[in-house]
Amino acid sequence: MTTPTIRSVPLYAILIVGLAACAGPESRPADPAGFRPSPAVAVEGDATAAERNATDADRIAADAFDASDPTPQTTRIDPADIAIAERLRDAALADNAAFALLASLTTEVGHRLPGSPNDARAQEWAVAAFERLGFDEVYREPVTFPRWYRNSESVEIVAPWPHRLVATALGGTVGTNGPLEAEVVEFATLEALEAATRAKVEGRIVFIGNRMTRAIDGAGYGPAVRARTRGPSIAAGLGARALLIRSIGTSNDRFAHTGMVSYDPAQPRIPAASISNPDADNLQRMFERGQKVIVRMDLDVGFDGEYTSNNVIGEITGSELPDQVVAIGGHLDSWDKGTGALDDGAGCAITMAAAHQILRAGLRPKRTIRVILFANEEQGLWGGRVYAENRREAIRLHQIAGESDFGAGRIWRFDTRIKPEAFEAARQIHRVLEPLGIRRGLNTAYGGPDFTRLRELGAAVFTLAQDGTNYFDYHHTDNDTLDKVDPADLSQNVAAWAAAVWLFAQADGDFGSGQGLETAPSVPR
Ligand SMILES: [Zn+2]
Repeated sequence: MTTPTIRSVPLYAILIVGLAACAGPESRPADPAGFRPSPAVAVEGDATAAERNATDADRIAADAFDASDPTPQTTRIDPADIAIAERLRDAALADNAAFALLASLTTEVGHRLPGSPNDARAQEWAVAAFERLGFDEVYREPVTFPRWYRNSESVEIVAPWPHRLVATALGGTVGTNGPLEAEVVEFATLEALEAATRAKVEGRIVFIGNRMTRAIDGAGYGPAVRARTRGPSIAAGLGARALLIRSIGTSNDRFAHTGMVSYDPAQPRIPAASISNPDADNLQRMFERGQKVIVRMDLDVGFDGEYTSNNVIGEITGSELPDQVVAIGGHLDSWDKGTGALDDGAGCAITMAAAHQILRAGLRPKRTIRVILFANEEQGLWGGRVYAENRREAIRLHQIAGESDFGAGRIWRFDTRIKPEAFEAARQIHRVLEPLGIRRGLNTAYGGPDFTRLRELGAAVFTLAQDGTNYFDYHHTDNDTLDKVDPADLSQNVAAWAAAVWLFAQADGDFGSGQGLETAPSVPR
């Protein structure tokens, strides 16, 4: 791969990036990127709150999405394939195959902690499921990572008023090597901790109390989760012995939310745990009473060698262009909390069932449809990185890629990150999705965590954005179980995926993979 010169980067990418860098309330361009809006596809007037909050860069990209003129190299979809996609959509709405798959996975395997015995059992389940569903090719791709284990965990307040806390060790944390007891010092936010003096922190347990806010697109997660990812090393840099955080979650149910820490190699590694929202409230009331709070933590967790898991892949082989691939999927792993029904059993089931809709209709796509169930997303996107690195020379062969990894809520928006010459095809796809209650979105799609590296290497991606209003009530907790999934919502997801995947696979033309998209903007949601 050569580094693209300025001449080989599409003009629209330069314009979007350039404007995104300078766009702000004072500098919004009068004529965004020079694109002429087409009256036939004017942006709808009923913007949601999330859309109103979109950044200027988003809006510029949205304008770009809506504003291309058909040109000779425009990617198009044949009306006969539109009709087939509509039939796939309607058949999927009346089908419960995804829910049956998800019930099977969560009941017969359960949680899928990377490197645990359930990791191996989940792979066996996935291979058997792909074969039973009739996929043409089923294979594994090895993914090796450090194995993290959780044996036991307890956190309690010992003074001034003893309470057992509902707590969990954060993913990837070191253990406490037996009970660790210390005074707790409270900070409202990570920023407050960053501004603290060493004298205030040294020798103590740091508690960060920030609360995540609820939003349909999960916009509250990014700002809140920094306390979990960066908190341990910032506290350690000030001499803290351990970190406690309020769970990164939106429910007041008494469940603690796990998830990865990200240690700074320059700092000592200190143990880190989260406590449930009600326990965090209780702890804060003790601070409000001016009391010195002593906590005892006992975390028997840590790393233990390496483990080789696998991405499990099922394919429907394309009839005309078998080397070209529509890549979809979810991540097969989960935390060892609940049964990983929402995160991400649902995404695996949705994408497997969507491809299966095409098989059971007796259809044969032009291009190959590849469903990837990624290994160990939770602890560092291990499966997604291996998938992309193994295909560095095959980016152009990816027609497009998209992952389902935001629970089981209904899809409400269709985002893409494609070349302008394919906007017309995206509009055609959107028209098939619209009866499902799905809006046309932005051209800054993220594509899902496991396609991050593939996207960075220049693959076109899409996102079928799910309603995540309740997702972070259950995310990474013991409460992530099958009863949280509405079968009708899951079928709506499958309907959208089946239709979109068919249309991507059949399109006359490509969506821009390997043509400079690596420089286009994307929004990580
Ligand atoms: Zn996930």
